[in-house]
Amino acid sequence: MDLGIRGRRAVVTAASKGLGRGCAEALAEAGVDLVINARGAEALEATAEALRAKGVSVTAIAADITTPEGRAKVLEAAGAVDILVTNAGGPPPGLWSDWSRDDFIRALDANMLTPIALMQALMPGMIDRGWGRVVNITSNSVKSPIAQLGLSNSARAGLTGFVAGTARQVAPMGVTINNLLPGIHDTDRADALDRGVSAAEGLTMEEARVKRAATIPARRYGTAAEFGAMCAFLCSAHAGFIVGQNISLDGGAHNATI
Ligand code: NAP
Repeated sequence: MDLGIRGRRAVVTAASKGLGRGCAEALAEAGVDLVINARGAEALEATAEALRAKGVSVTAIAADITTPEGRAKVLEAAGAVDILVTNAGGPPPGLWSDWSRDDFIRALDANMLTPIALMQALMPGMIDRGWGRVVNITSNSVKSPIAQLGLSNSARAGLTGFVAGTARQVAPMGVTINNLLPGIHDTDRADALDRGVSAAEGLTMEEARVKRAATIPARRYGTAAEFGAMCAFLCSAHAGFIVGQNISLDGGAHNATI
């Protein structure tokens, strides 16, 4: 399917690896020019090179997207863009009773206030031009809380509330905002969580992985390529009627009728 976005420009943050990279790859395959970001310059440049091989222009900005300085660098390189995919690392696991105010502020900054700041910076231009697409990478924890990821549950719920109201305000101007909710995907983040299970329960990494995969009706982890394909469709010319949705990509893990 031609996604109808060849020649458009996109920013994808936190995109040197994992789900962000999956989104950047699918957009590049659809002919979208990219500004990508991550903190580590080496992996970011390697990803940028791989994306350029798909025939699109790619600007790589090494910066921490959760800081005002990092966002300023990315936004300066971005200029006028049609598509924004927001992403950042997830907060660490822990216990509800241990988190301090500073822990919550860090999580809110990374997973709620950063995507909101990026939307506030880039959506006015999309509105002026009458077309735009925003996809936020959040988490299935918005629907099914994950006990040890309370910081993520909290911050992402805040972002979800902001999007629910804002998506309806910008839709009349041709701009859509939707959230993509990953369940367990095969990335470094999943490895880190598996290491935690392995250490806590005395399992090998393989046993920890098999145990988590067994909780998913699809009986496997998702892939970054599958995730990216969905993201690119939400950014496509065909997705203008999809507004304010929270779409789980979780192999059926969230057990609900609707
Ligand atoms: P990942 O494989 O660890 O990749 C994270 C990417 O984000 C890397 O490119 C990393 O590069 C970049 N990054 C992290 N913090 C950043 C920052 N402050 N500024 C700029 N770039 C940053 O993670 P993932 O699995 O793709 O996860 C992406 C998001 O989805 C996370 O928020 C995660 O919590 C959420 N999620 C993932 C899963 C899953 O199963 N994978 C499930 C639910 C939710 P640098 O380290 O070099 O900056």
